[in-house]
Amino acid sequence: MTLSNMERKIIENSIRDIKDFPKQGIVFKDITTLLNDAEAYGVLMNHLYQRYKEYNLDYIAGIDARGFIFGAALAQMLSIGFVPIRKKGKLPYTTISEKYSLEYGVDEIEVHIDAFGKFQNARVLLIDDLIATGGTANAAAKLINQAGASCVEACFIMALDFLDGQRKLKETTDVYSLIEVK
Ligand code: AMP
Repeated sequence: MTLSNMERKIIENSIRDIKDFPKQGIVFKDITTLLNDAEAYGVLMNHLYQRYKEYNLDYIAGIDARGFIFGAALAQMLSIGFVPIRKKGKLPYTTISEKYSLEYGVDEIEVHIDAFGKFQNARVLLIDDLIATGGTANAAAKLINQAGASCVEACFIMALDFLDGQRKLKETTDVYSLIEVK
């Protein structure tokens, strides 16, 4: 199931570029304007539903925090559970965690140890709004696999292709990005 050019345009036009946020030289892709636009949000969610309804998924895992918005909505449409992958220190029960490199220093994400427990080798779709260097998504895909589940695909609304994150992530899982920014 691929996105039509018209659907891509509607989604692309609803995302706003904010120059020099959060720091000089970064063009921040602001998806609040997509969420604010019922037509664009609907086109996006309907496309994701049509694509993933045949995947036999057991769970959607979303990355903190924008991955929660799309992931939780999609999980409901597919009638499956949602799992939040959170920044360190936010989840209350026993967790497993994975560190990853940032431009300066390291960060860490976590998931509950029993998050995918209802199914043997659960089939999981990972979702976030955007992939840049791929550090966050790589750590999240590893976490899913360490938790005893299987990350069958990672899905992003946008990929910043010039940062090469998708190529690296493809070593761990299949990757699907709706809009590729060259
Ligand atoms: P990375 O680990 O480098 O792939 O960064 C991905 C994470 O940072 C995602 O959770 C994105 O939401 C966020 N992010 C990185 N760069 C941008 C950007 N230019 N615009 C919006 N979000 C970004």
